[in-house]
Amino acid sequence: MKLLRILPYARKLLSETIQPGEIVIDATTGNGNDTEFLAEQVGENGHVYAFDIQQAALDSTFTRLGELNKRVTLILDSHENVEKYVALEIGGAVFNLGYLPHSEDLSIVTRPDSTLKAIQSMIGLLKKGGLIAVSVYDGHEGGHEERDALLAYVKTLHQADVHVVRYELFNQRNNPPFLILLEKLKDFKIPGQI
Ligand code: SAM
Repeated sequence: MKLLRILPYARKLLSETIQPGEIVIDATTGNGNDTEFLAEQVGENGHVYAFDIQQAALDSTFTRLGELNKRVTLILDSHENVEKYVALEIGGAVFNLGYLPHSEDLSIVTRPDSTLKAIQSMIGLLKKGGLIAVSVYDGHEGGHEERDALLAYVKTLHQADVHVVRYELFNQRNNPPFLILLEKLKDFKIPGQI
């Protein structure tokens, strides 16, 4: 047995639950690491909707994806508006909270209200058995508030509806990131109100 760091662990679980041909969401595209991974998972008949509020992030992801752009729609909008773009069931979703690495403006970060609205909408869209993986980095300004709001919200999800798991390397120094995993257990449209 080998214990995985949080990002490889999230990918392992997502690769086991996402099926070729499905629609999936990268809620925080950034430089496109997860978008690329998701595009590989869904295969040529699937599709990735990838959100970011920074054009620079979408440009960098477009360049990175090359041929895989055929499987991806890049959307310059906040992830909380996901239902404007995606009406069909999704096979999974990924969030990487925080700021765009190496960006000139590190004050552009994910925020509690929009993050929670987006997660709530995506739980509604998610297939039964599907997974949402949220990597939480709380070292930036406002990071603690977002972390606390997220933890408070996911605790309200009923145990019969969603399994909520927190995964972390417990003895790391300096605000280590952790993972919140949400597995949808049955079909329903709207999880508990925020
Ligand atoms: N997974 C990314 C990668 O592979 O590079 C890193 C994501 S980075 C930690 C967080 C990203 O979320 C930033 O690019 C930021 O612009 C974006 N973001 C912040 N608020 C957002 C929102 N409301 N909707 C969509 N994206 C947002």
